[in-house]
Order: sequence, then structure tokens, then C-alpha cells
Amino acid sequence: MSKSGEVSWKSENLGKRRWAFVVFLGILILHGLAILVFTRGFLLTRTELSQYSHCSDIQQSPCFSPPQDDQMVNHSKGCWTKPAIDRIFIIVLDALRYDFVAPSTFFYEKKPWMDRLQVLHKLASQPGSFAKIFKAIGDPPTTSLQRLKGLTTGGLPTFIDVGNSFGAPAIIEDNLIYQMAKNGKRVVMMGDDTWVQLFPQHFNISHPFPSFNVKDLDTVDNGCVEHLFPYLYQEDWDVLIAHFLGVDHAGHIFGVDSTEMIEKLEQYNGILEKVVDVLESRSGPGGLHENTLLLVMGDHGQTINGNHGGDAPEEVETSLFGMSLQMNPSSLPSETDSSSCWLDTEKRKICTSSIEQLDLLQQYLLCLAFRILLEASGVLILNCMH
Ligand SMILES: [Zn+2]
Ligand SMILES: [Zn+2]
Repeated sequence: MSKSGEVSWKSENLGKRRWAFVVFLGILILHGLAILVFTRGFLLTRTELSQYSHCSDIQQSPCFSPPQDDQMVNHSKGCWTKPAIDRIFIIVLDALRYDFVAPSTFFYEKKPWMDRLQVLHKLASQPGSFAKIFKAIGDPPTTSLQRLKGLTTGGLPTFIDVGNSFGAPAIIEDNLIYQMAKNGKRVVMMGDDTWVQLFPQHFNISHPFPSFNVKDLDTVDNGCVEHLFPYLYQEDWDVLIAHFLGVDHAGHIFGVDSTEMIEKLEQYNGILEKVVDVLESRSGPGGLHENTLLLVMGDHGQTINGNHGGDAPEEVETSLFGMSLQMNPSSLPSETDSSSCWLDTEKRKICTSSIEQLDLLQQYLLCLAFRILLEASGVLILNCMH
């Protein structure tokens, strides 16, 4: 090859290499952009605020007027509002589908797992009672950890959080349990140990049980039953949380349409009957539960195969049953009541409404007379406030 031929071959080769480098760089930049769009868009990230809500925040509101002397007594017990209730008893039945609680007459077809929690139908249909069944809509991802985080911080969880489901880090942002503990409320927890991973410092007393053996349908539930009933006769708590896992585990192993699931629901019906008996027997004037609110709720639903985590209607829809033990609770103004009413299998009239799960947090706080969290989403449901 002549010298000039060799030079032109070399420069042609160099040109090809440059092109290859430019193409490689272009693909690299394109990949980088795609990953950025994916992580910022699909995998939403959350910024946790370091501020906490305080009683004095209300004074900055243009609507604030200092309380009169006679109101000071009531305000000193609470914070932003006058307390509407003294105690809350929250029973979490994990993966409680809406059709486990609502009567079968609400659906096109009666299924074997429906109408098993008869005690809730009876209470919700009693004339003059202040008990109601709600369909509560959660936000995906519908795993226990993300739903508990949503319920206690009022924030929207992200899919990237799902990776934390095993060994959850403690919540450091403003949250319901922190505010309760800070305001002197004595919080007792029993059942699913996810609660103590999220709130390692805040419970006065806790009775956690391991939650990850899904083949075990009874250890957590039996632990709850063993510890639950003695507390119902005691004065030394303001908030009692009992988290049962049997229905979630029965779903994962056997599916919704199974004998094991029906047995679990019937076991819960018996437990709830006993709980309500004890609460009602002490709800008279001056009684231990004169001013107690009972909530029975799911954290998310589950599919017919017992799966949850996604955004299918069966997964995001769960149940909430609320009952005030007060003799004369403040009633819901009729213009804000969006109930639809049906007859159940016993021809009893039962009314239900649909609510967003996120709205519950602010509701708890105002019912117990605290304040609204800075970071929380959701709207107020008025019937707890005088
Ligand atoms: Zn769950
Ligand atoms: Zn589960």
C-alpha cells in the first residue's frame, strides 16, 4: 500500500470509530433520560417534612379567636377542638374485603364467604344506634406496611416503598401515633409486629407477634384475643389497637372461597360479639366506655386468590365499621350524608357510604382533639365534630 493510501485508510477508520463513539454516547444519554423519567414518574418519590404539628399553629389562622374562660377547661383537655370522644378502640382485620362486611344483598350474587360477620349487620341496623358500615378506598400499593403508613401519616405511599415491606424502617415524619403519645394519650398495641417496627418508641405497652409466616393462621389472632379482653375492663389506656392477621393469611394460603376463610370470619364474628357485649355493658353514664369509639377496619382488600398489592378494585376496597358507645352522639347532618340503604337477608335496613381511607387520619385526630398533621392529605368527615 502506498503512503497516501495508508493515511486515507487510517483517517477513514478513525472517522468510523468517532461515529461509533457518538452513537454509543447517544444511546447512553437516552438510557439515562429514560431511567430518570421512570424513577421520577412511575416510581414517585416522597419528601418527608421534618416539621411537626403543634397546638400553637392554630393561632396563626385568620379564623382563630381566643377561647372564652368556660371553654378554656375543654380546650385544655385537647388542642384545636373540644374532644368528641375519650377513647378509641381500633380492631384491624387484615385484608378485610368489603364483601366480608357488607350484606350479600348489596351484591349481584351471594357467595359462601358473605354474611359471616352478622354481628356488624345487627349493630348497623338497630334503630337509633350510631353504628355504620363504610366502603373504605385505599391507595395502591395495597400491602400492609404501605397502608399502615398511609393511615398514620396521611401521606400517599410509593411503589418504591414496597421493598421495605420486610424489616420496615421506623416512621420519622409527623404521624398519628407520635401525636397521640406527645399529647399524653396512652396507646396500647397488640397483634401484627409491623406496628412496632414503624413506631418503636411510641406505645405505652405493646404485644407484638411475628407476621411473616403466612401458613400460620392463628398465632397472631390468639395473641390478640388473649391480651384484648383484660384491657376492656381497665382504665389505663386511651387508644387500643388490635391487629388480626388470620384472614390475610387464610387468603394467601387457601384463597377467599375456602373453608378456612369462612371459619376465620366466623371466629371473628364471635370475638366481635363478645367485645361489643363488654363495651355496651359499661357504656352507661359514668361507665368505662361511656365515650368510646369502636372501629373495625381492614387495611386493604384481597383478590379471590388472596393476593394484594396492586390497584384492582378488590384490593383497594376494604371495609370500615364505626360505632359510638355514646348515648346521644352528634349526628351526621343530612346534607352531607351520602348513604345508600338496602335490606339485608333478615330484612333489616342497612345504610352504607363510601369514604377514602386517607380521610380517616384527620378524623381520628380531631375526634381526640389534637390537630391536623402538616403533611397529611384527606378531607374531614364532619360527624365526629360537635
Ligand atoms: Zn395487610
Ligand atoms: Zn397479605
